[in-house]
Amino acid sequence: MLPQGESHAFDSAGTLPSAMACRCDTDPLSNLFEWAPFAVLVTDPASGRFRFVNRAGQRLLGYDRDSFTRLVLSDIIPDAQLLRLLTRSPHPATAPAARSAPVRVIRKDGVELRVGLTPYRALLENRTYWISIIEDQTTRSAIERELRLAAAAFEQVQDGILITDGNLRVERVNKAFCRMFGYSPAESIGRRPRDLLRPDYDRWVLYQDPWRVLDEGAVWQGEVVARRKVGEQLPVRLRIHRVRSDSATSQHAVTVVSDLSGRKEAEHQIHRLAYYDVLTDLPNRSLLSDHLRRALSRARERGRRSALLCLDLDRFKDINDTLGPATGNELLRLMADRLRTVLREEDFIARMGGDEFAIVLEGVRDEHSVALVGDKVLNAFAHPCRLGDTEMVLGVSIGIALFPDHAGDPDTLLRHADTALYRAKEQGRNLYRFYTPELGQITSERFHIERELRRTLEQGELQIHYQPQARAADASMVGGEALLRWQHPERGWISPAQFIPIAEESGLILELGRWVLQQACADAYAWNSSGLRPIRVAVNLSGKQVIDGRIVDIVAEALDSSGLVPEQLELEITESFVIKNPEQGIRTLNALKALGVSLSMDDFGTGYSSLSYLHRFPIDRVKIDRTFIAGLPGDNYGVAITSSILAIAHTLGMEVVAEGVETAEQLAFLRDKGCDEIQGYYLCRPQPASRFLAFYRRLARLSPHGRGEAWAVVPTLQAADNA
Ligand code: C2E
Ligand code: CA
Ligand code: CA
Repeated sequence: MLPQGESHAFDSAGTLPSAMACRCDTDPLSNLFEWAPFAVLVTDPASGRFRFVNRAGQRLLGYDRDSFTRLVLSDIIPDAQLLRLLTRSPHPATAPAARSAPVRVIRKDGVELRVGLTPYRALLENRTYWISIIEDQTTRSAIERELRLAAAAFEQVQDGILITDGNLRVERVNKAFCRMFGYSPAESIGRRPRDLLRPDYDRWVLYQDPWRVLDEGAVWQGEVVARRKVGEQLPVRLRIHRVRSDSATSQHAVTVVSDLSGRKEAEHQIHRLAYYDVLTDLPNRSLLSDHLRRALSRARERGRRSALLCLDLDRFKDINDTLGPATGNELLRLMADRLRTVLREEDFIARMGGDEFAIVLEGVRDEHSVALVGDKVLNAFAHPCRLGDTEMVLGVSIGIALFPDHAGDPDTLLRHADTALYRAKEQGRNLYRFYTPELGQITSERFHIERELRRTLEQGELQIHYQPQARAADASMVGGEALLRWQHPERGWISPAQFIPIAEESGLILELGRWVLQQACADAYAWNSSGLRPIRVAVNLSGKQVIDGRIVDIVAEALDSSGLVPEQLELEITESFVIKNPEQGIRTLNALKALGVSLSMDDFGTGYSSLSYLHRFPIDRVKIDRTFIAGLPGDNYGVAITSSILAIAHTLGMEVVAEGVETAEQLAFLRDKGCDEIQGYYLCRPQPASRFLAFYRRLARLSPHGRGEAWAVVPTLQAADNA
């Protein structure tokens, strides 16, 4: 504000021009105020005419100096009452006003400004004048608001922010930075950012010192491994921005530090799950394919021989069924350990899924040397192993194919080793067999089943059962999975797990799959027309069906002919298909998705894990395989897998369905972990269509609005169902 002494300065000045038009440099008003950073208006209190307006005043109000000679104060201050108050206020001649008053002024272009006006009374040439000092509050309050917002943002953001001065010393840090690194603001200020972040030195030298090399306005970005105050590593992304400031010497830089530990962990896990079997920690089928391709090209280059051994645990299915999947898993881990122990470091061992393993041997001399390895593996399984309280002897069967003797490419080699394995099992198990061309045509049981299946399909002897699926949170029905049932006249009930693979191999699956789709859509249309809230039907698609190329038309046709809306159809796809054909998979799945149906990934986590592809596929739901659910909540392994699948799927915006939920404890665990949907015997076993609808009706009646307590009624429904 105007200091007192200065008022006197023009008080005592001898000559003053009487009109504004005279702008001689000796005008004391001009001398004093012309360049002042605030607007100064000098008016005659009697007439209200302007005696002088400085440059800032002209700029603020939009009039030039000449225009002011034609104006009076009331032209720019429209509030007459306020004007009177201001001009009559009895300020002493030379004292500054106590405070500035908020006033509205009208600019030349008609825009109203909110300003602060400080009035003075001053004596010039023996006359009293009013001096108004005006500050533009519109911009000031806007700046204040901006500053408040910026300060709030600075403290509230998730990312750490540090601001360094021209000497690369930290000037300010926000709360997030302090939280992330464990330093207090006081500990941070005055230090160099690299001393605070302590980035991984090896990688850091590549970057020089980005704070130093940055040009003004430029941005440097990079990921580094930093260290917390306590020493723990922390992967972060840095974004450094050199800030333009008014003085040339001040070279502030703003550094935004984003914590990547969550993402890095997820990426690592995704990679691990994509190429390794989570159960045994062995390479999975995809890594085996990669490895085999490379091994064969090495063998070709060097003119050497390689062997592929396919292994299968004898009677694994029986063990799994009688002792439960948790024991089955334990057994598979044990098997992996034994293989690791007997084989050399450079031999490649993979789990292909289920109880199948594969071994790749490079640089083998002849059949004899491979046979020695076969013996070694059989011997390793000859002594009994303990599983809980039970002791048992595990038998393995092995099929062997040689490169280049039996096959020249990985796929054929795999097929031939598989054929040899089949023969080994047929011939009494616990032995190995080499591939021979005569083995190529295996007929036997498979052939019969195939023929009968074809006949059955034609005669309409197949049935579909539906297994209910409900929301984990409140037991409300969401859908039912269609599961094929085949009642054979002599053999009795044949599991789809047995005949689907045969149908796949023979190509019969295309016809079979089409029938299932049409039947399931028709059944679902019927339930959804019964007055109950519509739910979806889930249909399993085999990889063969998806590859076939007609699947999009087939699905569209099934929807069309049944009248079912696409939102009520879900297609279940298996991981193995996805892993083997990622490119075609994406195309086909996108086309299916475009029809409006939803897609789920079946049997997730069973050894073909394709988490790395998962985010590229338009998948709505992931179904955790029931082998992982079986041991919950006691089995640490199952807990870890389930939790990480839930975390990753949810991160990718997908829902998670748990399969094979059999107990209240499993349900409680899954609900607690945020699992979205439940399927399994605890809710209901697969049912013929009519009983499925009856179950849905009862559940809906008992729990009309789907509440958490609704799960309590589920066992009563089961009892009613068994009655
Ligand atoms: P999936 O798709 O994993 O189906 C779930 C299987 O788990 C069904 O066996 C079901 O009966 C069983 N299950 C459900 N809840 C529980 C539970 O709480 N405990 C236990 N222990 N088991 C439970 P299912 O019906 O024998 O089917 C076996 C497989 O056959 C299916 O496995 C699916 O891969 C295939 N499949 C069945 N129907 C079709 C079909 O129409 N098309 C194709 N392509 N495959 C089918
Ligand atoms: Ca399924
Ligand atoms: Ca499944």
